[in-house]
Amino acid sequence: MTNTRLVLLGPPGAGKGTQAARLAEHLGVPAISTGDIFRRNVADRTELGQLAQKYMDAGEYVPDEVTNKMVAGRLAEPDAVDGFLLDGYPRTAAQVSELDSMLAGRGLTHVIELTADTDEVVQRLLNRAREQGRADDTESVIRRRLEVYAEQTAPLVDVYAERGLLVQVDGMGPVDEVTERLTAALA
Ligand code: AMP
Repeated sequence: MTNTRLVLLGPPGAGKGTQAARLAEHLGVPAISTGDIFRRNVADRTELGQLAQKYMDAGEYVPDEVTNKMVAGRLAEPDAVDGFLLDGYPRTAAQVSELDSMLAGRGLTHVIELTADTDEVVQRLLNRAREQGRADDTESVIRRRLEVYAEQTAPLVDVYAERGLLVQVDGMGPVDEVTERLTAALA
């Protein structure tokens, strides 16, 4: 389904990354994960990576100007012209407005909120920390990331609901089942 311009919202640990990759393949559009792009820049020790790392390690958001510029650049790449799936962006009200400008009237076609139970999410993140050793997966940073999500990103759900774009999908349960729910929600 090219020309799908989709945003995947949901708290850290809801399984957005895994589902974004599966869904993007199903739709034939690129999955664009701002967290992944930041992590790649950190690993490559770029200027952007050095700037982003201190925010990421603390569980805070990278400043909007920096993130917006990065996303604008990525969306301008040829593979995103016929559609994309954004995972982890927008995360603030300012990013919503900026994305609107970037899309210049084309607009989004879908916004999916992957919902998750908080206790389950914390447990998932702690398990991931053990398996992958991500620097931002320590317990105190996890708590901060959830707080920042609640304060800055959860309100975006209402913004997109008012626009009639929002679909909520239960992110709990086996990965394959969640993927099925997501593809059904888009059919
Ligand atoms: P994620 O992998 O999506 O959980 O992102 C990991 C980290 O990257 C976040 O905790 C933020 O520090 C940073 N990040 C990712 N996306 C954004 C965004 N849209 N705005 C600001 N910071 C972001």
